[in-house]
Amino acid sequence: MLEFKAAITKSKGAPFEIHNIKLKELKDDEILVKICAAGMCHTDMVARDQDYQVPLPIVLGHEGSGIVEKVGASVKGVKVGHHVVLSFASCGHCKSCLKAEPVYCYNFFPMNFGGADISGRTSLRDESGDIHDHFFGQSSFAEYAIASERNTVVVPEDVPLELLGPLGCGIQTGAGAVMNALKVKNGSTFVVFGAGAVGLSAVMAAKIMGAAQIIAVDIVHERLETALSLGATDVINSKDIDVVDAIRKMTGGGSDFALEATGRPEILRWAIDSLGIKGTCGIVGAPALGVESNFDVNGVMVPGKTIKGIIEGESIPQIFIPELIEHYKAGRFPFDKLIKFYNFEDINQAALDSEKGITVKPVIKIQN
Ligand code: NAD
Repeated sequence: MLEFKAAITKSKGAPFEIHNIKLKELKDDEILVKICAAGMCHTDMVARDQDYQVPLPIVLGHEGSGIVEKVGASVKGVKVGHHVVLSFASCGHCKSCLKAEPVYCYNFFPMNFGGADISGRTSLRDESGDIHDHFFGQSSFAEYAIASERNTVVVPEDVPLELLGPLGCGIQTGAGAVMNALKVKNGSTFVVFGAGAVGLSAVMAAKIMGAAQIIAVDIVHERLETALSLGATDVINSKDIDVVDAIRKMTGGGSDFALEATGRPEILRWAIDSLGIKGTCGIVGAPALGVESNFDVNGVMVPGKTIKGIIEGESIPQIFIPELIEHYKAGRFPFDKLIKFYNFEDINQAALDSEKGITVKPVIKIQN
């Protein structure tokens, strides 16, 4: 029985505790990945703090990168030794999966937040009993993660593996929202609310798509500076001014596209109000389950606005992540500028720095 270190979340809001756990079994359709590094995303905090109620104790972490250690008997396309990025889980059988829309998998919630495999079984235990796992089909705040072919993306070996984990969630979410879901047009105006890892990835993607005006809104000065360095044409510190009024003036009547990436309902309202005629607002920011927002019905209906929820950048990870890596290699998508590395034992510091706005994208180095 394989024994390895993992960061366990034991109770609501508790710090991560690193200790040894055991893998009970590797099923035929599963892949054992030796984790090199794992990005930390706001969604890990959302689960840790039980704003999304995952069962506890659990191993979180859902932006893992690593090397395939072992594959189950029925795994065909992934081989031992492959460099891989792990992304979200999907069932492969529902109507959405059959239409090649795995982000809208009918089993997305149980498979990514259920704390076990789809049959309800956990693979991990310690001396006190079973530990919940399969968070986003991986639970990668650990030396080893169990994934499946559907959420394992084979990546080229000429790119540093420790950089790539965040492509599996936060970065593909921002970039994919712009490129796959909103399909931001050449010459258009685009505003992102929230210049975190998701929002800044959206800025880089909007530049690739040829948006003429890219406006980033945040309350942290350094993040706005980073947005400018990545392609934003204008930035707004929302502590200072009336944001909606400012955007309407800057864009000559309202933006073509907006993306809400703060997870705050009052800012979603700003995003909708700052759109121009026939503008589209994407929602990626995730508040606690049950949080509601409001909008002016006529303010949406009369100008023909669209409000669109977007999961994981509407990505098919095996297609989109290699595309993002190509953009990175060509210098068009410098997502490495968002990353700061932390040692595994400093995982709680990484969480703190992320929450304080000091680090945009913490990546926890787990094994060489
Ligand atoms: P983050 O915390 O790094 O970024 C959020 C940004 O919002 C920060 O820069 C913060 O300063 C800014 N912000 C907070 N309050 C603000 C305000 N009043 N005005 C302007 N800006 C404000 O988080 P992230 O990793 O970039 O994730 C962003 C959101 O996307 C989170 O809610 C996360 O849970 C969610 N998310 C959704 C998906 C999806 O599939 N839809 C995937 C990944 C992450």
